[in-house]
Amino acid sequence: QLDQPGDQHKMIPEPEIIKDTYKGSSKLKDKVALITGGDSGIGRSVAVHYAREGADIAIVYLEEDKDAQDTKAMVEKEGRKCILIAGDVGEENFCKEAVQRTVKELGKLDILVNNAGEQHEQHDIRDISAEQLQRTFTTNIFAMFYFVKEALDHMKEGSSIINTASVTAYHGNKVLLDYSSTKGAIVAFTRTLAQMVADKGIRVNGVAPGPIWTPLIPASFEEEKVKTFGQKTLLKRAGQPSEVAPAYVYLASEESSFTIAEMLHINGGEMVTT
Ligand code: NAD
Repeated sequence: QLDQPGDQHKMIPEPEIIKDTYKGSSKLKDKVALITGGDSGIGRSVAVHYAREGADIAIVYLEEDKDAQDTKAMVEKEGRKCILIAGDVGEENFCKEAVQRTVKELGKLDILVNNAGEQHEQHDIRDISAEQLQRTFTTNIFAMFYFVKEALDHMKEGSSIINTASVTAYHGNKVLLDYSSTKGAIVAFTRTLAQMVADKGIRVNGVAPGPIWTPLIPASFEEEKVKTFGQKTLLKRAGQPSEVAPAYVYLASEESSFTIAEMLHINGGEMVTT
């Protein structure tokens, strides 16, 4: 069974069926990947795709819930190890410990996917508090900084760092001021970090997804926006996580050996923001 676009009118994404056509071909054989926000949505799909390619996975996520346990079971079903690490990526010590636990329990760290993120629908800049702005920057960009700082001590030549940005980094979005600002920062962070660590043989790239139907969408947008989500793309629909996860496989694997400081745009042909 192929994955099916969830019914947006039900307001809650149904668990995605990962494309059975995606078999994997050992592109990441015996690699170890740490994925933040790996319990749900895009991160979960990346975790399962990586497992199908032969990697063991550390999943970092905010709160203990069924999503994380389900994702662990999906990774283990592919015959790979999976550890769950719950905590707030906005806290530097937690990020350090998450990297250290990954290395201790899975043996090493080859791939870091900085993917956890939060967003909030905002209509008027005067309603946004400085605390909110700070919080979104902490989760979306400071966390990347914390993870990278610790991970670099463990990553060897041939390792990859992949950061999740967004189409909003380029186009903005009229109801996502703090979010779009953090995503713009992620693009600059990614391209700059790539230049800083290229000499170590570590490649840094990013993915800028367009509208992808995940639990984040109904959790952060009002009903009207949820119902029309993705309809302004050329494909006139939102994407599924498994339509973006293969980009993360490509960037983590040797197939992308000449791709560095780059953002892959996977957005259904989004020409204007929704
Ligand atoms: P999601 O809500 O399904 O997953 C995000 C996960 O991030 C959460 O499950 C949670 O575990 C984790 N997270 C959030 N805040 C955290 C914190 N403080 N500490 C630890 N973990 C935390 O959402 P998603 O749509 O899969 O989003 C994944 C990434 O993709 C985000 O960075 C998001 O901004 C980005 N993105 C999503 C879309 C989209 O349309 N869904 C588009 C562009 C970019």
